[in-house]
Amino acid sequence: MSEEKNATQELREKLLNEPKGAKALSAEEFEAADAFCEGYKAFLNASPVEREAVKYTVDAAKKAGFVPFDPEKEYKSGDRVFLVNRDKAIALAVIGKNGVKNGARLAIAHIDSPRIDLKPNPLYEANNLALFKTHYYGGLKKYQWTAIPLTLHGVVVKLDGTRVDVKWGDEDNESCFCVTDLLPHLAQEQVTKPMSKAFTGEDLNVLVGSRPYADAEDEKELVKLNVMSILNEKYGITEGDFLSAELCLVPSFKAKDIGFDRSMIGGYGHDDKVCAYPALMAALDAEDVNSTCITYLTDKEEIGSDGNTGMQSDFLRYFIYDLAKQDGVEGYRAMSKSTCLSADVNAAFDPTYASAFEAKNSCFINGGVVISKYTGHGGKYDTSDASAEYMGAVRSMLEKNNIQWQIGELGRVDLGGGGTIAKYVANMNVDVIDLGVPVLSMHAPFEIVSKTDVFMAYRAFYEFFMQQ
Ligand code: MN
Ligand code: MN
Repeated sequence: MSEEKNATQELREKLLNEPKGAKALSAEEFEAADAFCEGYKAFLNASPVEREAVKYTVDAAKKAGFVPFDPEKEYKSGDRVFLVNRDKAIALAVIGKNGVKNGARLAIAHIDSPRIDLKPNPLYEANNLALFKTHYYGGLKKYQWTAIPLTLHGVVVKLDGTRVDVKWGDEDNESCFCVTDLLPHLAQEQVTKPMSKAFTGEDLNVLVGSRPYADAEDEKELVKLNVMSILNEKYGITEGDFLSAELCLVPSFKAKDIGFDRSMIGGYGHDDKVCAYPALMAALDAEDVNSTCITYLTDKEEIGSDGNTGMQSDFLRYFIYDLAKQDGVEGYRAMSKSTCLSADVNAAFDPTYASAFEAKNSCFINGGVVISKYTGHGGKYDTSDASAEYMGAVRSMLEKNNIQWQIGELGRVDLGGGGTIAKYVANMNVDVIDLGVPVLSMHAPFEIVSKTDVFMAYRAFYEFFMQQ
């Protein structure tokens, strides 16, 4: 074959848009991606629930020179501040030369992930086993959460107001917990049911003990009593304290490299820590920015972004209003000139489930950071649908900085769908588009991403912040 391109090949390159995928990446880019992802895995392992992600973020931010935001203080270009919302969401800002006069640049990811929460009255005993009743959080395929090791994370607030942090099941020498499943031998009825009926929310009961309390004078619920006495000894809590608690069960396994080539990462909670971490790192690394850059890590996305720590709360708006006041501009004006990358994952094309996707408009593992102009469902309901103008600006920013990127719709039209925080940001009169990392097995206890895609997400947020 000749090295020379013929006229047709030249025309093809000029006119057609044919993504090259990972083949286009250099050895240096692979190396940089692998190195970046070591930090990401540490963040992921430390942050299964949002409070832990906030704690990790505060520590990292302080090390990078960020200080707690004080609305009464004056800040100048180059200052770095953070503001925590009820320990479950956090905004980090790098003050720009123009402050927020020309708007802020926002990168917003969520740090909550699908999981199993305890009900207010969780602990019970049945047939000499102690179990927890649960209420799942976010969109789960419930069967995936059976017969895997689970660990308990969260907080309990006691009657005297003191808060106890709970973390049980992460260490190798620690016990963990499990939702049981029915053996195949006796599952002839179960396996013929539709998946939504074969395993229901009320079946997500978690096994937490089986030995009776010793030396008891009565015979009633001794296994439950024993569990409660262990919890009391370790955390000083009583059964009533479950009523004022947030306790979550998450998979107890750590993030692992996937594939003989170690090109991917399997782990719990990529959605959406895989965008939160690159957005955090972009804020820590951004310097000499023109417009104030804000990374906001929000909560409650998986259950609709409601509540005072979710994207529908006014927390971020008030933060920007405070910054605008310093710059002598009206908050709503700063808001209206702001631009945002809604940093969330999209579903990577899966050859095993090819019929769920439309390949020409799907994102692929190793295809780079994925832009979703809109999400939603059936006829573009419940989405913000970014303008061609804003899409054009983001596309050109990525091309100019040689960042590998791809377009992605969430699956085949009319098959289902989903949303992100983009529409709530758009409602604040901000230009916004979804940009994030493609994920395989999204919302499963063990999700998969590509290392180069994670790195491209970081590069995208960083260059977005550094724009003139
Ligand atoms: Mn998400
Ligand atoms: Mn999700």
